[in-house]
Order: sequence, then structure tokens, then C-alpha cells
Amino acid sequence: MANPHRAWAEVDLDAFLGNLAVVRRRARGAEVWPVLKANAYGHGAGPVARTCAAAGVRRIGVADGSEALALREAGVTTPLLVLGAVIDSEVPDLLGRDVEVGLHSEARARRLGELARRAGRRLGVHLEVDVGMGRLGVRPEAVPRVVAAVAEEPALELRALMAHFPSSAGWGREETRRQHAAFAAAVREAEAVLGRRVPTHCANSASLFTDMEALGDAVRPGISLFGILPRLGGAESGLRPILSLRTQVVFLKDVPAGTPVGYDGRWTAPRPTRIATLPIGYNDGIPWRLGVSSGAEVLVRGVRCPVVGAISMDYVTVDVGHVPGVGVGDVVTLVGRDGEDEIRVLDLARAAGTIPYELTCRLGARVRRVYKGGAVAVPAAAPA
Ligand SMILES: *Cc1c(COP(=O)(O)O)cnc(C)c1O
Repeated sequence: MANPHRAWAEVDLDAFLGNLAVVRRRARGAEVWPVLKANAYGHGAGPVARTCAAAGVRRIGVADGSEALALREAGVTTPLLVLGAVIDSEVPDLLGRDVEVGLHSEARARRLGELARRAGRRLGVHLEVDVGMGRLGVRPEAVPRVVAAVAEEPALELRALMAHFPSSAGWGREETRRQHAAFAAAVREAEAVLGRRVPTHCANSASLFTDMEALGDAVRPGISLFGILPRLGGAESGLRPILSLRTQVVFLKDVPAGTPVGYDGRWTAPRPTRIATLPIGYNDGIPWRLGVSSGAEVLVRGVRCPVVGAISMDYVTVDVGHVPGVGVGDVVTLVGRDGEDEIRVLDLARAAGTIPYELTCRLGARVRRVYKGGAVAVPAAAPA
């Protein structure tokens, strides 16, 4: 039967569950809170979150209020943590829905307390300590003052102290160890102010896969659950890629030597060859830069074929002159396995001069998500 999709992302939820098991072993007893922001890094937050819930996950991290609401609308009842800074307009919809939020300043503590009080609700907050990212969070020296402010606000409940490390090399970097020590000191001061123990979390994927020593009460892995370890390769980690990105040949054309292909003739056929047009472009998340002598390749009938010419909004062109029997409708693999060969997200990201995170997050809305496996029944072509 002809392939029903122009471009599709196969998401292997069994591989996701395998990765979750690997991460749980690495977490050494700390609770694992998968971070499913950005539509689960492009893989589809609803199906991935339902898989997490079925696997006994007790909390899921998201980036903002709209992502938390989208999960609730998708029927996910797992407690959620908005890691970032919520804005006022997001707060009313989050109250009473088992959503906790990151807290990043004393002023925000007062404002969040006021919004929660007005609604007659309580709001659980996780105070972020800025140990070196220089982005969100309060500086370590301000922690005692802010926890005291939270303690005075009856509508707020301090659930945890958190930190987020900037180095993608994780525990391997001396700097991360110093930042972790600063976090631990801030936690001790907060506990002295409050007269009780406060749960902590700070580890992302890089921390977990570089054997960070003190992991705290929970860990927040994202990218590793999708089978990707940007800095560390990952082959020996036991993680498996969960994403395959595929399309099909929609058009074939034989061209003589010297034929320019694509916008601005950025590539010219050096010999007579055959050009396949693929119905996927930068609107679908294929970086425009891949079309500029990036060396990017796709797999057609298990054979590597170079991307040639500029990437268009809706199309990619590849040279298939060396692929025997290639035909319209053939499946084309941009990421994933075909026969003996495999292209990883990391390979494509390198060719595009970007990071794997950006590549998967940018998978467009037109790319059909097709799920397989998982602990729960998910429609084969569930909406993203
Ligand atoms: C995205 C994010 C994570 C997960 O990071 P990975 O590198 O994908 O494991 C953890 N914590 C915070 C605060 C984040 O924003």
C-alpha cells in the first residue's frame, strides 16, 4: 500500500521505557522526574507523558503554563512542575490542578502568594538557586531571605530547592562540582532558617551520565530519555534512540551534468544523475543550513545519499543516482535505521551546526507523529 504520510516521526515508546529504566538505575534511588518541555522535545508530550504515567512516574517537568495545561487537556493527571518562570496570566489556570512552579525571586514569591490567596488556593513552589547559569533563580546569598518570605506567605508551600548546572559536561567539570557545593551550602542555610529538611533536585542528563555524586531527592532528565547524549556519545550508556524521521520520494528526475538544483543554484550536478525530491523542508524542522555543503545524507533503500541544493520550505532534494531501482514512494530515512546503516540525531545536528535539542524540538506540526510500543495503547497516529 502506498505510504499514507508525506513526512513522519516514528516514536518508539518501548525504547523510551528502556531509557527510563537506564536513567532510574543511574538515579540510585532518587525519584526520576522526566522533563517533557517543548512537546517532549518534539516527540509529542501527550503520548510520552501517558507512557511515563503508566511506568509509575510521580512528577513531570514542563517549561511553562501552557505546556502544563496542554498535558491536563490530554488527560494526563501526573503532578507537574513548571520549571521556568510563570507569568501572572498563567497562574489562575494552574491553581488547583496539581501543578507546582519554579520560584525565582522574592518579589515573585509575594506576587504568586497574592494570586494564590485571591483564588483561595495554595501553590507549591520550587525555589531555584542560581549557582552559575546567570539566568533564572536567586543567588545563593539571597536564599535565606527568600525562603523566609515564602514561609511567611500562607498561600505558598516550599516543596523543594533546585539548581540547574550550565555545563553540558556535567560532573566531569570542576566548575560543576563547585556549583554543586554552593547549592549544598544554600540548602543548609535554608534548612537552618526553616528548621526542617527541604527536598532538593539539581541533576539533568549530563549530571546523571557523568556520575554526579550527590543527586538529591529527585533528578530531572530530558534528552537522555529520548536516547540522546549530546556531549558524551552514548553508545555505551545503554540508551537507545527513540526517534526515526522519515519521508518518501515524491518525485524523481534525471538531470544532465551541469544542471543547477534548488534556489540560487547552490548545487550543480557534476555528472548525469537522478535527483529525488522529498516532501519535507525547513517548515518541518529540517535546518536550512543542511543544504549548504553540509555533507548531510539520508538513507534510501539502505544506501547513503547526499542532500544537494538548498533546503526549501517544503522540499529537500537528494542525489540518488547511485541507488539501484529507486522509485517514487520509496521510504527515505533522515534519522534512524534503514538496513545496516543508521543516522543519528547527533549526526544531523553536527551537519547543521546545531545541537540535537534544537533539531528534535523544531520538528514541525506537519510531521506526523506515529507511535509504537509503550505501556499504554496510543492511537497509531495520535495528534502531537
Ligand atoms: C531542560 C531542563 C532539564 C533537562 O535537561 P536535559 O539536558 O535535557 O537532561 C532539567 N532541568 C531544567 C531546569 C531544564 O530546563
